[in-house]
Amino acid sequence: MFTNSHRTVVVVGAQWGDEGKGKLVDVLAERADWVVRYQGGANAGHTVDLGDVGFVLHQIPSGILHKGVRCAIGNGVVLDPETLFTEIDGLVADGVDVEGRLYVSERAHLVLSYHKLIDAESSHSLSLGTTGRGIGPAYEDKIARRGVRVLDLRDPERLRDLVTRNTDHANAYLASIGTSKRADAVATLEQLEKLAPRLLPLADDVGLMIHRAIKSGAAVLLEGAQGSLLDVDHGTYPFVTSSSTTSGGAATGTGIAPTTIDAVLGVVKAYTTRVGTGPLPTEMDDPMAERIRSLGNEFGATTGRPRRCGWFDAIVVRYASRINGLTDVAVTKLDVLDTLDRIAVCTGYEYAGDVHTEFPSDISMLDRVVPRYEWMEGWQQPTGDVRRLEDLPAAARAYVDRLQELIETRITYVSVGTRRDQIIGLDD
Ligand code: GDP
Repeated sequence: MFTNSHRTVVVVGAQWGDEGKGKLVDVLAERADWVVRYQGGANAGHTVDLGDVGFVLHQIPSGILHKGVRCAIGNGVVLDPETLFTEIDGLVADGVDVEGRLYVSERAHLVLSYHKLIDAESSHSLSLGTTGRGIGPAYEDKIARRGVRVLDLRDPERLRDLVTRNTDHANAYLASIGTSKRADAVATLEQLEKLAPRLLPLADDVGLMIHRAIKSGAAVLLEGAQGSLLDVDHGTYPFVTSSSTTSGGAATGTGIAPTTIDAVLGVVKAYTTRVGTGPLPTEMDDPMAERIRSLGNEFGATTGRPRRCGWFDAIVVRYASRINGLTDVAVTKLDVLDTLDRIAVCTGYEYAGDVHTEFPSDISMLDRVVPRYEWMEGWQQPTGDVRRLEDLPAAARAYVDRLQELIETRITYVSVGTRRDQIIGLDD
């Protein structure tokens, strides 16, 4: 992805998340100077498998696993400082050097204990299937212009005012939903006082740092969390996350100009999954769903929740390609389909006598559509050792070619296993 003319590259999920972005970022980070997270919080769980060790990173960009790569958490992220330090300590214990190469935007908003309390107590959060980590409530405070940012930790008086006001607000809400639980401003402030001496040295103007890096010709990877169909504007609202997961969010969530982005890589699974409630038009029935779940280990990295499984939906991915301006696509988990005798791809939605080929804005339609499937032959051979496109079994190659045609976007990578080396890179 990184060439002389492609220096700033965004990696986005082009389905409902868990597409394997962590692995792709890890592979691409080898050639990057900077890796920056631009949205989401500690609800994202990137899993990186290095053979003998595996890492699950919730907030720190997976680029941290590469020596010499500098990592930053952008202003678009809502930062849970406790989780951040747990993650840093875990990395250090595993011999990963973090010191001096991890930065946090001073503009990033903090996820505080009252956000988690609201998330845990609110039935609205439960009905949306959130991870209960306070991400939604923290973004609500941000948009309502009462949030606490990293830079507020530098001014104890301002911090006290903000936390006190927000605790009152949180408690009024908790009372209104009939729970007896209450947030505690003093405890929150004590916790922040403890964390500030560790967090503030990491805080900087990340937008300016990345701007300078880009000007100096550095290779910059902007890493999204979740997936395009969970974008607060373009996803299956209201079953979405609270931030802009799509490539536009990479600019606003890091503070660089959209015109500095050279390429956008969309990561998709060779099939579809989604966690929690909300539409999934190509959802499989059991026992096929069960089989894919077990073959693909489709259980949440953060919550352990079983993921819902479906066939590849070309309508979804072509839509994701359009709204992100995808220049390239990485198809992951092709190996998961190795044992199937036939594989379906959705090419349209049948509804009220018509066939729709564009993703609808009104998701109520998705509950009623009948996916139109094209059935392809399975290859029934292992692909985990394949490293060149021409070495894929003919039926697997035909599957990848057909996906490329349907999504109208170049497939640049095909991933055939969890390990770093299990990838077919088509641009090398
Ligand atoms: P992310 O949030 O998009 O990074 O996705 P997750 O990390 O939650 O899920 C991806 C999971 O799929 C991880 O456990 C990866 O190790 C695994 N994975 C990634 N690529 C492949 C692949 O090509 N084949 C298989 N079998 N697993 C993969």
